[in-house]
Amino acid sequence: MNITWWGTRGGIPTPEPDVMRYGGDTTCVEVRTSDDQILILDAGTGLRQLGQKLLREGGAGGEAHILLTHFHWDHIQGIPFFAPLYHPGWRFTVYGAFRGDQRLQAILQGQMGSVYFPVSFEQVQARVQTRELVEETFRLGETRVSTVALRHPQGSLGYRIADRGRVFAFATDVEQPPEEPDDPKLVRLARGADVFAMDAQYSPEGYRHHLGWGHSTWEVAARIARRARVGRLVLIHHDPYHDDARLDAILGEARGVFPRTDSAYRGMVLDLAPTRAGRKGRAALAASRGRSVAVGRQPRGRA
Ligand SMILES: [Zn+2]
Ligand SMILES: [Zn+2]
Repeated sequence: MNITWWGTRGGIPTPEPDVMRYGGDTTCVEVRTSDDQILILDAGTGLRQLGQKLLREGGAGGEAHILLTHFHWDHIQGIPFFAPLYHPGWRFTVYGAFRGDQRLQAILQGQMGSVYFPVSFEQVQARVQTRELVEETFRLGETRVSTVALRHPQGSLGYRIADRGRVFAFATDVEQPPEEPDDPKLVRLARGADVFAMDAQYSPEGYRHHLGWGHSTWEVAARIARRARVGRLVLIHHDPYHDDARLDAILGEARGVFPRTDSAYRGMVLDLAPTRAGRKGRAALAASRGRSVAVGRQPRGRA
């Protein structure tokens, strides 16, 4: 399994020079499975450049699965600018949480409603189907995908992707208040993962001014990572007001609690080679705990 970060920012894109090492695009992560499927976690503005890459690679056609955690702007705003959508040879399945009040298809149409965008979702030429999810586990080829509902305004899905003995757990947009007991669902999502990416938007001081906004601190992310005995923690959903220097400092502090921590930056690639036990699932997962993974180079501080 190969994981590439195209968007790392939370809230809103930040096209400013002092954030460019970690990146200004909002959440989008590409996962290539060992059987060569393309999974896309969230469709923030990072999706635009991923779309360009897919067109270069696949040309007129291909297939991908788009797994949405929720529908806040910073997680869907890349959809209208995702170029493969306008090519008839491409096929997409979009996954999102089942909601009693609105179908997923209607949500996709709504975000390209005429008030917001000149092209309607009905005009896209790719074949797009939707699948609504509850807390469940399903298979995509050799890959097992599990979901859990996370604490966030209007809800958010956490995804756990297991591929030939390797596990990537993705928990963006989740609020775990520091003084409350750890949410058992969040810990279960992360348990023993080779890579655990978690919302670390706030500093402990910053969080005190944003109770109920739906995000966590780097300190809590490191606490969960330690408790769940993950191989590697990746801090994600960077605050739009944190520049590169601030994110460097946060990374240093987080490593003080959980040393095997990285902070996601645009272009970061994590490569998880399949374990020899391969498909044995949980046993392979237990065996892989603590093993180091090949990790992309962390961006260096300014000279
Ligand atoms: Zn967000
Ligand atoms: Zn959100």
